[in-house]
Amino acid sequence: MIVEVFSSIMGEGKYIGRRYIFIRFKGCPLNCIYCDEYVKESISPRVEKIPGSGIFQEYQNIEDRLMEIIYNLKTPDLFAISFTGGEPLFHHKKIKAYSMELKELGYKTHLESNGIYPERLFYFDYASIDIKLPEHFFNLDNEEYEKIYNLELNSIEKLYSMGSQVYAKVVIMENTSIKDIENIARDLSDIGDITLCIQPVTSLFNIKPPSQRKLLDIMKLCGSYLGNNLICTPQIHKYLKML
Ligand code: SF4
Repeated sequence: MIVEVFSSIMGEGKYIGRRYIFIRFKGCPLNCIYCDEYVKESISPRVEKIPGSGIFQEYQNIEDRLMEIIYNLKTPDLFAISFTGGEPLFHHKKIKAYSMELKELGYKTHLESNGIYPERLFYFDYASIDIKLPEHFFNLDNEEYEKIYNLELNSIEKLYSMGSQVYAKVVIMENTSIKDIENIARDLSDIGDITLCIQPVTSLFNIKPPSQRKLLDIMKLCGSYLGNNLICTPQIHKYLKML
């Protein structure tokens, strides 16, 4: 189900700062400790009235009129249409249909996913796959974590082989193990030319971001595998108080 459609800048990842129209879907099977999507999931379906205004109107039939809504939110600087969530691939059949329609109309598509559904993937122009860390969850044993991690790598590999511009994003916290991030960088370099976006966690519920020293140490170490294919991308939309 679509919760909201609006125009803003991409606040994180490789295409940070670009203008997007976001289609946000409800629902995600994971439960990350820093997740703030529950706030958005509690709202009634809504559509931004004027691109970038942050003023919404409630909308009961977004899915029936999605292309018209997107056309009305389109601005000349539009980079792509983002399917975001929650976890958009929860609704993969609908997204595939929307994506095909959008491509026919000349739009670029972008998937923002946690990567746990590689079997549901198809081609997107751009794709961001989150790599989760054990400390992102309240209670997850090693076996469950490894399963999630391998699915994420499979998703990146699949998108890369389909020719999507895919990159990985990992949220770093104060207690993140530098070794874990180094292993991720190594695994990504084995797949191919994949950019890793290092995202210091946005302080929330007493979760602390890493120190500047730790952040730079992580980037330096990852550079041994990825060269300069690394970006530190704090969530700029939150600093700018944008959607
Ligand atoms: S994967 Fe994303 S939407 Fe799902 S719980 Fe984690 S942060 Fe929230």
